[in-house]
Amino acid sequence: MDGNIRSLHHVTATVNEAQPDLDFYVGLLGQRLVKKTVNFDNPGVYHFYYGDERGTPGTIMTTFPYAGKNVRQGVKGSGQITVTSFSAPVASLPFWRQCLSAHGVAFIDEGTAFGEGAISFDDPSGLGIRIVGTDADARAPWTGAGIPADKAIRGIHSVSLLVRDPAKTAGLVGALLDGAVINETAGATRLGINGHAPGQLVELLQATDEALGINGLGTVHHVAFAAADDTAQLAIRNEVIARGMHVTPVLDRQYFHSIYFREPNGVLFEVATLPPGFTVDEPLGSLGRALKLPPAEEARRAQIEAILPAVNY
Ligand code: ZN
Repeated sequence: MDGNIRSLHHVTATVNEAQPDLDFYVGLLGQRLVKKTVNFDNPGVYHFYYGDERGTPGTIMTTFPYAGKNVRQGVKGSGQITVTSFSAPVASLPFWRQCLSAHGVAFIDEGTAFGEGAISFDDPSGLGIRIVGTDADARAPWTGAGIPADKAIRGIHSVSLLVRDPAKTAGLVGALLDGAVINETAGATRLGINGHAPGQLVELLQATDEALGINGLGTVHHVAFAAADDTAQLAIRNEVIARGMHVTPVLDRQYFHSIYFREPNGVLFEVATLPPGFTVDEPLGSLGRALKLPPAEEARRAQIEAILPAVNY
């Protein structure tokens, strides 16, 4: 498939309480809340989208805060995205160590398998998060949270998948998602998606005897890849079907159109279109301030607002 996929689109995680999630991604990591909406499949639960100023695909982290909804704690394991990495300038890593310490977040300094300096820590729900130091990221950061531009996070750097048979995932990503192996070390393979810049990187970690992961609080639910448009998405969908794999119909997620399928090691993949983006239902300057509902749920706004916990940010 040539040119259908541009980069990563977003990473979506099942998390615990809403307020600590906002405090962490907005207050500590300095991301912009670009959309406050609900889980379209479960409108009693928020769906938060964090990213750069406009929620550019490749910068977006999204969470479903499922606290109090009888969702069990997730189990980390194989067939799962175990680390979500953000990129920031190399010289900013001391700043980030200070920020994490000031917020009481324990971290370890552990470079990536490919030579970059990196800081690893958990988010409030237990998600594995990493800040990777790189000067190869040309994206403009969001500075509205008060973090200076020379320190601020540029967007998602990569996702790391723990898988039993990395060659199978690499083959599928290569054939369907414009991926190519750009680096390999013992136990780790780095794939570039339509390039090799931060925001276009997928790491495959060789699972050994880990059991399969189970989705629940504190685990990543899926990673989405950015399709240029609906035509590119349909071409990928047809290819998934041709391979005998199950794929969902095209679903309207209001801010993009989505299809979902499981790659051969069990990780849930989504292909999401670049258009229409987060300004489809509110202006750029006020993204994320008001609760936005999909049109089909507007009639139930009062009930939905009564269920959702109050949050400040
Ligand atoms: Zn998604």
